[in-house]
Amino acid sequence: MRKVAIYGKGGIGKSTTTQNTVAGLVEMGKKVMVVGCDPKADSTRLLLGGLAQRSVLDTLREEGEDVELADIRSPGYCGSLCVESGGPEPGVGCAGRGIITSINMLEQLGAYNESEKLDYVFYDVLGDVVCGGFAMPIRENKAEEIYIVCSGEMMAMYAANNISKGILKFAQTGKVRLGGLICNSRKVDNEREMIEQFAKMLGTQMIHFVPRHNDVQRAEINRKTVIEWNPQAEQADEYRTLARAIDGNDMFVIPKPLAISELEKLLMDFGLAEV
Ligand code: ADP
Ligand code: MG
Repeated sequence: MRKVAIYGKGGIGKSTTTQNTVAGLVEMGKKVMVVGCDPKADSTRLLLGGLAQRSVLDTLREEGEDVELADIRSPGYCGSLCVESGGPEPGVGCAGRGIITSINMLEQLGAYNESEKLDYVFYDVLGDVVCGGFAMPIRENKAEEIYIVCSGEMMAMYAANNISKGILKFAQTGKVRLGGLICNSRKVDNEREMIEQFAKMLGTQMIHFVPRHNDVQRAEINRKTVIEWNPQAEQADEYRTLARAIDGNDMFVIPKPLAISELEKLLMDFGLAEV
């Protein structure tokens, strides 16, 4: 079973990209579980057709420890399995700790057992801050393969660089590796070339360039991934290509984060160049 985590700046498209890619993987016949690790609990909406799912932490709070797998895991699109870890009550407790509580509960209930025949588990992890709680899935070896969603916007690249610093830190003692950058386009000048170069400097690859397309919103309004909403859409093929690239990926590295001056130079070189 491959243990994948998706990181990136808030709003960059982690949940959208994760679910659309998972739709591509399940279409290929892979068995995939998605674990939302964001107190917003919106990591599985498109796979579940909008059905709001009670989070693991809410279930534990309301039912106590005596829960079954079916209470916290719901079947989604094409055999995918969906979990939302949820968050602590606002202002109380550590959200990262909550994620680990959820994952431990899933382990106890056998969600990762051989008999489940999972090919993948995907963790969709909140935010760009790798210090503190949200590094938990990496720190505790729950995730081994990280993809960072970014764009050519400065703050998205800045966040990707910070996440790489976190991966570097935990890679020295654990198994976690960076599998690549997913460029989720914001239509910035020379974006593809810049992110390819950024990836190279980090010692990794741009595993796919996902174009910005309104079909993503159209599908989202219909509470579906693009693949489910319109299997013929060009954007659906983009996610299929990304799913195949992840499935066939064999480039797992310890990243080499950039100095801020290098990052700024990269932005200047590409951002100010002729289009
Ligand atoms: P995150 O999980 O990183 O906070 P989301 O996945 O919720 O971000 O994405 C934020 C918004 O961006 C969503 O409403 C989604 O529709 C939109 N979005 C993401 N990727 C694309 C894309 N490739 N094209 C168009 N819109 C996109
Ligand atoms: Mg999200």
